[in-house]
Amino acid sequence: MNKYDVIVIGGGPSGLMSSIAAAEQGASVLLLDKGDKLGRKLGISGGGRCNVTNAKDTDELIRFIPGNGRFLYSSLNRFGSSEIIDFFEGLGIRLKEEDNGRMFPVSDKAKTVVEALIGKASALGVEMRVNSPVKSLLYGEEGIQGVKLQDGAEIGAAAVIVATGGRSVPHTGSTGDGYPWAEAAGHTITELYPTEVPITSAEAFIQNRELQGLSLRDVELAVLDPKGKKVIAHRGDMIFTHFGVSGPIALRCSQFIRQVRRKHRIPEVTLAIDLFPDRSPDEAGSWLRGLVQAEPKKTLKNVLKGTIPERLLPVLFKKAELSPDTTFEHLPKEPWQAFAAAVKSFRLQASGTRPFEEAFVTGGGVHLKEIDPGTMQSKLMPGLYFCGEILDVHGYTGGYNITAAFSTGHAAGAHAGEAALSRGRG
Ligand SMILES: Cc1cc2nc3c(=O)[nH]c(=O)nc-3n(C[C@H](O)[C@H](O)[C@H](O)COP(=O)(O)OP(=O)(O)OC[C@H]3O[C@@H](n4cnc5c(N)ncnc54)[C@H](O)[C@@H]3O)c2cc1C
Repeated sequence: MNKYDVIVIGGGPSGLMSSIAAAEQGASVLLLDKGDKLGRKLGISGGGRCNVTNAKDTDELIRFIPGNGRFLYSSLNRFGSSEIIDFFEGLGIRLKEEDNGRMFPVSDKAKTVVEALIGKASALGVEMRVNSPVKSLLYGEEGIQGVKLQDGAEIGAAAVIVATGGRSVPHTGSTGDGYPWAEAAGHTITELYPTEVPITSAEAFIQNRELQGLSLRDVELAVLDPKGKKVIAHRGDMIFTHFGVSGPIALRCSQFIRQVRRKHRIPEVTLAIDLFPDRSPDEAGSWLRGLVQAEPKKTLKNVLKGTIPERLLPVLFKKAELSPDTTFEHLPKEPWQAFAAAVKSFRLQASGTRPFEEAFVTGGGVHLKEIDPGTMQSKLMPGLYFCGEILDVHGYTGGYNITAAFSTGHAAGAHAGEAALSRGRG
C-alpha cells in the first residue's frame, strides 16, 4: 500500500484548501477527485464568476449562515474572510467587493480562482489525481488506515479528509458519497434536504402561469407560522415561475418552508409578500387611497397600474373581490380594505421546494456534535476529518458557503498535516 501523510477526497474549495494547508505543514498529500477536473462547482458559483468569499467580519458571516453557523466560530477566527482575501491576493489574484460584501476576482472568471488553488497545491507538491473515484474508507482498530478506490486499489494514509460536498447539483460530482463513509465510522447524518432552492406552490395563479416571469424588485418575502407570525423575512428581489417563486429572497426563505412544515406538521406554509416594505399598512392604505381619490373618475386598474406591477393587479383584485373597473366614487369599503391589506401582505401557500438538482446548497450532513470545531477531526475515528458542505452547516448564497468550505478546509488540512507528521516523528 502506498502511504501518504494525508489523503484528501474531493477537489472542491474545501478539499483544495485542506490539501494546501496540509502541504504547508510539510505533509505528503494526495488529493483524489472522481471528476475529470477539479473545482467544478466552484467554477459555476456566483454565476460563473466565483463568489470567493464575503468581506463581512466573523460575527456577521455567522449571521448569514443560518444552518449552524456558530459551529464555525473558531475556524473563521483563524481563517475567515480577511485571511481568504489575503490568501488569494498573495497568489496574485486581485479581488473586488460588490453588493452586500460579496467578493469576486477582478477577472470576473471563476477559472482564475480554481487555477490559483490548483497552482498553489501543485507548487507545494500536492499530488492531484482526477478520474479517481473513492469507493470506501479503510478503518482499523486505531483509526483511519486509508482509502479504497473504485478500481479496487487501496492507498494508505495517516489522515483522511473527506471533502466530498453535499448532494446538490450532482452533475458537478457532489453526489453524497461521503455520507455512508461517515456512517461506517459511527457518525450520524442529520436529515438531508435541498436549500437555497426555488419554492413550489399549488396556487391556481401559479399553476395557470398567470404570473410566470413577473419580477418583483425590493419587496419583502416572509415565511409565516400557522398563527401568522413571521418566522423569517428577507428583502430584495424575487420572481414568479411556472412552479412557484424563485430569485434571491425566495432562495433565502426556502429552508424555512421545510422548518415550518416539520415543526407544525402542516402540508403547506403561508408566504407573505410586502410590495411596499417602507410603508406601514396604514401609510400604504392611505397613500393608495389618495392616488385613486386624486382621479375619481378613472378605474382602479388604470390608476394603480403604474404603482403596482400590472400583471399582479388582476390577482390582487380577485383576492379582494374588488372589481378592477370600479372608480373611487363607487369604492366598496371592505373589498378596498382587503385589497390594501393584500398589497402589504400578498399571501400564497408554499407546498415545498424544488429538488437537490436545483438547489445551490445541501442542508443537513455530518452531525456537528461528533466533530471537533477547531480541527474538523472526527471525535469517533482518529485521523478522519470532514470539511465543507458535507458537514451539517449551510449558509445563504453570497459567498458564505464557499467561505465555510475554505475555512473548515483550512482547519482540517492544517491539523491533519501537523498531526500526521508528529505521529510519523513519534
Ligand atoms: C450553481 C451554484 C452556485 C453557487 N453559488 C454560490 C455562491 O454564490 N456563494 C456560496 O457561498 N456558495 C455557492 N454555492 C455553493 C458552493 O459552491 C458549495 O457550498 C461549495 O462548492 C462546497 O464545497 P465543497 O468543497 O464542500 O464541495 P464541492 O464543491 O461539492 O466539491 C466536492 C468534490 O468532491 C468530489 N467527490 C465526490 N465524491 C467523490 C468520490 N467518491 N471520490 C472522489 N471525489 C469525490 C466531487 O467530484 C467534487 O469535486 C453554489 C452552488 C451551486 C451549485
